[in-house]
Amino acid sequence: MSDVAALSQQLLHCSPDALVAVDARGRIRFANDTVRIVFGHVPDDLIGQPIDVLLPERFRARHAAHLAEFHEAPQSREMGSRVADLYARRADGSEFPVGIRLAPFEWQGERFVAAAIRDATERRAVRDALVAARAEAERANSAKSRFLATASHDLRQPMQTIRLLNAAMRRLASGCPDIIELLHREELAIEGATRLLDGLLDVSRLESGAIQPQLDEVPLAAVFADLQREFDSVATAKALRLEFAEIGVTLSTDRLLFTQLLQNLIGNALKYTERGAIRVTARLDAEHLEIGVEDTGIGIPADKLERIFDEYYQVDRVGAPRLGVGLGLAIVREVSRILGYPVTVRSTVGEGTRVVVRVPRQALRPDRSNTAHAAAPIAGGAARGRLVLVEDNPSVRSATELYLTVAGHSVLGAASPGEALALAPQLRPGDLLLADYRLGTDMTGIDLLHRLRETLGWELPAVLLSGDLDSLLRVVKAPIPACRFLGKPVDTGALTAAIAELGDALVAADGTGG
Ligand code: ADP
Repeated sequence: MSDVAALSQQLLHCSPDALVAVDARGRIRFANDTVRIVFGHVPDDLIGQPIDVLLPERFRARHAAHLAEFHEAPQSREMGSRVADLYARRADGSEFPVGIRLAPFEWQGERFVAAAIRDATERRAVRDALVAARAEAERANSAKSRFLATASHDLRQPMQTIRLLNAAMRRLASGCPDIIELLHREELAIEGATRLLDGLLDVSRLESGAIQPQLDEVPLAAVFADLQREFDSVATAKALRLEFAEIGVTLSTDRLLFTQLLQNLIGNALKYTERGAIRVTARLDAEHLEIGVEDTGIGIPADKLERIFDEYYQVDRVGAPRLGVGLGLAIVREVSRILGYPVTVRSTVGEGTRVVVRVPRQALRPDRSNTAHAAAPIAGGAARGRLVLVEDNPSVRSATELYLTVAGHSVLGAASPGEALALAPQLRPGDLLLADYRLGTDMTGIDLLHRLRETLGWELPAVLLSGDLDSLLRVVKAPIPACRFLGKPVDTGALTAAIAELGDALVAADGTGG
């Protein structure tokens, strides 16, 4: 025997895997020495035995069929790659997990299968531990998201009550500057808590996978106009310039999510900049629409850039107050994932930050930005009619009533849609419905509005409140005339403005002023 032949013979017997050759009838015709270590069998004793001796009994019946199948379409492959777990049986009857690779070959006109068998006990244990750890992490994460979503949602109701009571007290306290100052501080704290609740609810909802983007054709100029209106007063208060690029492109995107992404970036730019300018740029290249949010603010240290998208992460700045709650960029991260718009950040400490959102070209549509899409500005003025307030929670109802009365409205309270419908005979043009979208019954605020309008025969204006405004706006397919939607906890300024606007529209349409 040549040296090479002798070496290959030796190698065959000492291979790290147990090797057996099985003929077409399922008989073992060869077994190497490693079989002794892996199975505890004397290799020569196996020759001529059915391959079944190496299998646990429960697999034997099925194995004959597998062997026949393999001989029909023989090819080298991992055995049982579609089966979760493979087991073999040792000479002493004990079982152990295995990995098996099969290769067909022919020898002296006969067909064989070579099987390399490896004890997978350790690998299986590591894999099982990983699978268990992952399942546990996913369970904990989804429990956290559910807890946060529920807690933040349920906390909105009492927060709404506190906010309304604060607004009512501020009106009552006119002439008492000390009390007004205290109430103003309380209002700031309420606003902070509301922001935190909003952030928590947003992140947990986005993470839960419940949000599917609703695509619409959205002119970028309209989104920029909305954002300019929203942030102008903050920029002015800090003497910062806030500039938006003028660009005529239309996106096929989810308007709410896309706006939310930019709101968080612009909000941060304004928060972390004391002088200079915030610029929102837009540039088309071959593959992307690149939207940049640039500031001339304090910047972010390079070693912190990786972490700023984590929930609750805030860059520690010695002596500087914490300006947010650490959720804005976690929302950006989730929205960027859902929309498929990658977000990158570059920053230099002391010079400023530039965040870039890349919208793929496929999301762009022929431009429609000349059609007016921006929401109509809210007009001032006071409503003249009465307000029908439908709210099932007694403490929220009485706080809202109190606030509205103090703000100069007369209020008809109703605890249920039924009570509101019973008020119909008393209603006259100029009155307005103020109701939750969810009324704790089968009937939603929208159903109630339609029923009341049917009964009255005229278009009763309405303000509908929802704790989950984004979801509600997705459900409402077409705008409802003379109906405004507001989020809860209600911003009292927005509520008064909406009531005034609907009242003014009515006066204008009526032409008589009453
Ligand atoms: P926060 O509510 O604290 O602003 P974010 O998740 O929005 O939370 O941001 C995380 C942290 O990243 C912030 O606390 C801040 O330190 C840093 N950061 C984000 N945007 C900017 C920016 N434009 N300039 C400087 N620092 C920023």
